[in-house]
Amino acid sequence: MAIRIQIPTPLRPYAGHKSSVEVEAATVGEALDALAGRHPELRRQLYGEDGRLRSFVGVFLNQDDVRHLQREATPVTDRDVLTIVPSVAGGKDTAVDAETARQAAMRGGKVEQPLSHEEIRRYSRHLILPEVGLEGQVKLKQARVLLVGAGGLGSPLALYLAAAGVGTLGLVDFDVVDESNLQRQVLHGTSAVGLPKLESARQRIRDINPNVTVETHETRLSSANALDLVKRYDLVADGTDNFPTRYLVNDACVLTGKPNVYGSIFRFEGQASVFAHADGPCYRCLYAEPPPPGLVPSCAEGGVLGVLPGVIGLIQATEAIKLILGKGEPLVGRLLLYDALAMSFRELKLKKDPACPVCGTNPTIRELIDYEAFCGLGPETHEAATGVPEITAPELAARVARGDELLVLDVREP
Ligand SMILES: [Zn+2]
Repeated sequence: MAIRIQIPTPLRPYAGHKSSVEVEAATVGEALDALAGRHPELRRQLYGEDGRLRSFVGVFLNQDDVRHLQREATPVTDRDVLTIVPSVAGGKDTAVDAETARQAAMRGGKVEQPLSHEEIRRYSRHLILPEVGLEGQVKLKQARVLLVGAGGLGSPLALYLAAAGVGTLGLVDFDVVDESNLQRQVLHGTSAVGLPKLESARQRIRDINPNVTVETHETRLSSANALDLVKRYDLVADGTDNFPTRYLVNDACVLTGKPNVYGSIFRFEGQASVFAHADGPCYRCLYAEPPPPGLVPSCAEGGVLGVLPGVIGLIQATEAIKLILGKGEPLVGRLLLYDALAMSFRELKLKKDPACPVCGTNPTIRELIDYEAFCGLGPETHEAATGVPEITAPELAARVARGDELLVLDVREP
């Protein structure tokens, strides 16, 4: 029987830096023995002097702890997965100091030092990670990320991307901090109630990391400004709370070729994915059309658990950092579903839709459209969004009947 053994990060140095190993075995004991036989250094990590598995090493067959099965005698079959789970402390400051970080940063013979001493101390826990290092930290410093919305999702995104050293954060928002925001929008404090969110965000980000340049765009993202804004950034993190802006962000990302790190939340559930990335699907491939207005309530109407945007926003921040570093497996073609009440994560496969109107083989959307109309929203909302006054058909009929001098220009396409 060929079974797969998942190797945890702390033990990978002893297993040829592999994340999983396939071995032939009929029982759990045989599988571990085969693994240890192939990597003798690993044997010392897994087994004590008495030849028994060390007590801080957990072994799970699929989802079950083998101690509750037949321990090493537990039979295994093809397609079973054995996972080794050692205890991990994490977070404790040990021997890592600025000098260690500096040496890690210099590894690879780089002569040039594009980070200041202050930055090297600040990012020391990144610099000693081989996946980040000096090269990755410089990539983060040079990166430009646009956050659409400085609310629930925008809060953890802005806080953590700033702390991680993303050099330039663009923020689009036109709202003012309201008391009802404080339950989840941790970018803003009680003292900021009544202030523009962008002003509050700028102050908080400056305190977290003064090395970050904050570009504020106090405007509603619209068809008139979205392409111009998105073009100036490397990637977009979508933290919007309404359908017209979601489709607008998606289309602007597809048309400019910028990845769209997507997150959405409702009550106790959230979704995350990465859209518009190279050959991956876009938001329209998943949802060709928005639900009719009123069918899906907004967070203001339906409520949202305060910690939920923290979880989803940090998944978005993680994906943004991975895309910048070019490391790991991004959520491209995968929709992550999170249920806070069940405390479960599920993953669904997404495919690019050849018939997608914006990223398909024969796209019909080649420029930004009227997203309020696309989402079936009334003229009141549209007027508020564009500032262009509108009249209804009966109002026009009344003016025609009155004999007003009018020029009616029909700009509809066939
Ligand atoms: Zn698409």
